[in-house]
Amino acid sequence: MKGWEKNIRKVVPYVPGEQPKQRGIIKLNTNENPYPPAPGVAAALKGMDADMLRRYPDPTSEVLVKELAAYYHLEPEQVFVGVGSDDVLAMCFLTFFNSQKPILFPDITYSFYDVWAEMLRIPYERCALDEEFRIVKEDYYKANGGVIFPNPNAPTGVCQDLAAVEDIVAHNRDVVVIVDEAYIDFGGKSALELIDRYDNLLVVQTFSKSRSLAGMRVGYAMGNKILIKYLNDVKYSFNSYTMNAPTLAAAVEAVKAEEYFKETKGKIVATRERVKVELGKLGFRFQDSQANFLFITHPQFSAREIFEALKIKKIYVRYFNKPRIDNYLRVTIGTDEEMDELISFLKKFMGK
Ligand code: PMP
Repeated sequence: MKGWEKNIRKVVPYVPGEQPKQRGIIKLNTNENPYPPAPGVAAALKGMDADMLRRYPDPTSEVLVKELAAYYHLEPEQVFVGVGSDDVLAMCFLTFFNSQKPILFPDITYSFYDVWAEMLRIPYERCALDEEFRIVKEDYYKANGGVIFPNPNAPTGVCQDLAAVEDIVAHNRDVVVIVDEAYIDFGGKSALELIDRYDNLLVVQTFSKSRSLAGMRVGYAMGNKILIKYLNDVKYSFNSYTMNAPTLAAAVEAVKAEEYFKETKGKIVATRERVKVELGKLGFRFQDSQANFLFITHPQFSAREIFEALKIKKIYVRYFNKPRIDNYLRVTIGTDEEMDELISFLKKFMGK
């Protein structure tokens, strides 16, 4: 070990899903959208005058903030945008969870939460999910440092109803509650309608899933003006979190394309429901996912062996080598053709 290594604090890194580079892969492992972004996005990028890149982008990302505010019938001061919801969430940890008091999040959840907490030295406690992978809302009443959970949860896809979310927020008026709604557009009910009543609630969403822009890195938070001001105070201190000019122009087009948005997410939901039935016929078990993925397990075949066999066939799904979920696979909903290939392979694999 180098001398200086003793004097740094080492971080156990977040392990992202594989991003294979080969062609011909059916990629169902990182919850990307199988459909292209709205046509206006590509048009905005193609029509862009490269000369604008000489100048720094607008640090306030005003065009996108205003577009989102109009879309959600909010005031611009209630919207915060960032470089993917990962960065928005990390900024939230920095801004709201630094009281030295423990924050709460589910024990099976988005694995970035404990990485950020560790990195930022934020104490945390995990609350166990029940046998059906549901969040037990009472466990979150009386948090000392803050609360964060995804709704629908990841990687389970299980969604809480709005009343349960409200109960958690209402029992925690002295700390900030962050609802990570990365997958909300695929069926759940957003907590956005609560932000006017609860000044401690922040709702975070992303363009990566329902708007097909994972590669562009656009996320946003919505809450009352004071929360958003605190977030901006921190953000402006980190120049790297400024959104770049092409992204701003393209993201605005994605918000405008309402018809396309509805059509593509509708297709994904319809495919999910169809695939549920098919997988059920093959003996798979799963909770009722409200996301663009299914979290599945099989009583006879181990998740790991299915995962390995699929990979050989160039079908990538997500396997988590973690306690309690190590016999589950998370399968992103792709196009109908991709899902048909998956199902036909699984049939052969199981000798059906
Ligand atoms: N929250 C959850 C629950 C997620 O699964 C993801 C995607 N991995 C994110 C946030 C981050 O998404 P992005 O940074 O692409 O907006």
